[in-house]
Amino acid sequence: MQFIDLAAQYKHLQNKIDKRIKTVLEHGKYIMGPEVKELEEKLSEYVGVKHTITCANGTDALTLALMTLNITKGDAVFCPTFTFFATAEAVAFAGATPVFVDSNEDTFNICPSDLEKRIEQVISEGKLMPKAIIAVDLFGLPADYAAIQKIADKYDLKVIEDAAQGFGGAIIDENGKEQRAGSFGDIATTSFFPAKPLGCYGDGGAVFTNNEEYAALLKSYRVHGKGEDKYDNIRIGMNSRLDTIQAAILLEKLYEFPIELESRNKIANSYDKNLSSFYKTPKTPSGYLSSWAQYTIISENRDLDIKAFKEKGVPVMVYYATCMHQQTAFKSLYCKNGDFPVAEKLAKSVFSLPMHPYLNSHLSLIFNIK
Ligand SMILES: *Cc1c(COP(=O)(O)O)cnc(C)c1O
Repeated sequence: MQFIDLAAQYKHLQNKIDKRIKTVLEHGKYIMGPEVKELEEKLSEYVGVKHTITCANGTDALTLALMTLNITKGDAVFCPTFTFFATAEAVAFAGATPVFVDSNEDTFNICPSDLEKRIEQVISEGKLMPKAIIAVDLFGLPADYAAIQKIADKYDLKVIEDAAQGFGGAIIDENGKEQRAGSFGDIATTSFFPAKPLGCYGDGGAVFTNNEEYAALLKSYRVHGKGEDKYDNIRIGMNSRLDTIQAAILLEKLYEFPIELESRNKIANSYDKNLSSFYKTPKTPSGYLSSWAQYTIISENRDLDIKAFKEKGVPVMVYYATCMHQQTAFKSLYCKNGDFPVAEKLAKSVFSLPMHPYLNSHLSLIFNIK
């Protein structure tokens, strides 16, 4: 059994993907070929935004977003402490200071009331300039954007949605319409790392926005700060393009994605039915749809439980055992253990079960462990 079964997915899509790759090999436009533009259009349509700018990976996507919002030394960017390292790394890489925020214990996402508390703290200390919030759609569940946007408006902060795991998730608005992950905040980012809900066969990422000016800046930053063309350089940028071959692969995977998302939801439902009396299983607030990047449960006895799963050949993973404020790389921020009680407790008690659309035949084995 695989934790994420990319081989089963490839077997299912092999003819279509092979054909797409062959087309690229034949036309030879390996960099910024026609598939990149086609994918950007399809992604904009799926996510429901005006502009998609693909790039080399999800970490670069965050860096490009921070560059576009002109975030730099002396700025504070608020982000959850319970997340993947890249969220906070991109902030520090931009020269700004990540200010960590505790999590909500049911959704695992950034806690709006703690967020406001930390913003007030930074303002009263007067050392850093509060500039932006990066909210993460952790494990596939969109963060509480209604509450986050309200706080951002109050303190005049930009919002970046880190939808690396959230792609495919949504929040249903008051008219019953799905607002999809990738469309929240001022700029949103995602990753096409192979294990993400929509993954390619290498590194890949994208930035989403409805703002014309940001879209133009993002396209420039992605190719060496280009002006009229890539030999006319009007600002310092990066080299962060999505390969045409990866775009071709993603086009076929995006076509299949809604069906896969439905399978992921069915699997999450049966996990819930069969495991909720033994573990604290994830809660999806009403009006929210998760992309189930991970199915993460809370155990009182994590080491023993993990051992029991592994003995039966069920691969499980711990995302994440270390919060950002506990990472050696962020030692200089002088955060103390105990400053983030919810996140610290999650880091000690969560683990994730296999989750992919081709898992059905393995489910009974997983349910028989308890
Ligand atoms: C994976 C991930 C990223 C980074 O994506 P890469 O494509 O691996 O650079 C950023 N944020 C979160 C929350 C992620 O899970």
